[in-house]
Amino acid sequence: MALMLDGREPARRIRAWVAESVEALKKKHGWTPGLVTVQIGENPAAARYVRGQLKACTDAGIDAKLVRFPADISKENFLRELAFIDRDPNVDGIIVQTPLPDGWPSDEILSAIPSSKDVEGVHPENLGRLYLGEKKIPFPCTAWAAVSLLEWYGRSSFEWKNCAIVGRSPNVGRASALLLMHRQATITVCHTRTSPEQLRETLSLADVLIVATGVPGMIKPDLLPRRAWVVDIGINVTKDGKLMGDVAPGAEDYVEAITPVPGGVGPMTVSLLLANLLLCATKRRLGESLTLDVRKLR
Ligand code: NDP
Repeated sequence: MALMLDGREPARRIRAWVAESVEALKKKHGWTPGLVTVQIGENPAAARYVRGQLKACTDAGIDAKLVRFPADISKENFLRELAFIDRDPNVDGIIVQTPLPDGWPSDEILSAIPSSKDVEGVHPENLGRLYLGEKKIPFPCTAWAAVSLLEWYGRSSFEWKNCAIVGRSPNVGRASALLLMHRQATITVCHTRTSPEQLRETLSLADVLIVATGVPGMIKPDLLPRRAWVVDIGINVTKDGKLMGDVAPGAEDYVEAITPVPGGVGPMTVSLLLANLLLCATKRRLGESLTLDVRKLR
């Protein structure tokens, strides 16, 4: 039976570290980090996620609030409102929840948040810094969560290791590949134009596998090498309302270590969002560039 890379304990420890740091900032400087989450229109799935995010912030002593706009707000008015939120000196981080209204260019909207307040780590400037290998930046939370889980459970040397990533979206698969490459891993990225033969061969050589496709159960156990450590980023809702990853059930009988879904990458992602907020706030208000190495919180 595989080692379970459970994200709940490291997520709890990261949140405790954030809460202690927030308390210390309040005592020493008299302010707490502030987050504004912006939502346009109604979306039940996004609303549930936002509720969880706000609760995690409040529990850590962060000053977090939700600002909602009607679904029919014009893009120009929305950008004006966003600029107004940005001018508030107490706001250290801004998140614009997706999905955006149909036809809105996500690049333009997400770039309207200053990179200094980009707590999700997905602003083009921060992605550029990730590309260049900078370390004192807000990292894309989900990719950071995937790699941090491996490190938390002791897989922290990637030299000479083959790491396969399935999925190449900029903020998840591609960002995971960059984070691992900067840790000296040898990377192969697979996607929809990777042939079944190439996928099978790549996975057979993998010491570490990260899957982020959004295709429930697409990685079947027979594709998995026995020594691999597997991070399943996928969160898919099945017809009967259950959550399922991108790796098919039964993989735990084949591999050395694997994340559960739910309870793996998800809780870590939210905790690292709080960590990013703390890093953004201390940089913006104190000029201090913090980094977080989750292994130090074990
Ligand atoms: P995207 O849809 O943006 O990207 C999916 C990627 O997977 C694409 O690069 C696509 O390839 C590739 N892909 C799709 N189907 C296949 C296939 N059959 N074979 C090989 N590659 C394939 O998704 P995201 O990256 O945003 O999300 C991926 C998953 O991660 C989803 O399940 C999402 O819910 C989950 N997620 C989980 C989070 C968490 O906190 N745990 C946070 C964010 C996402 P191509 O580029 O060729 O189209």
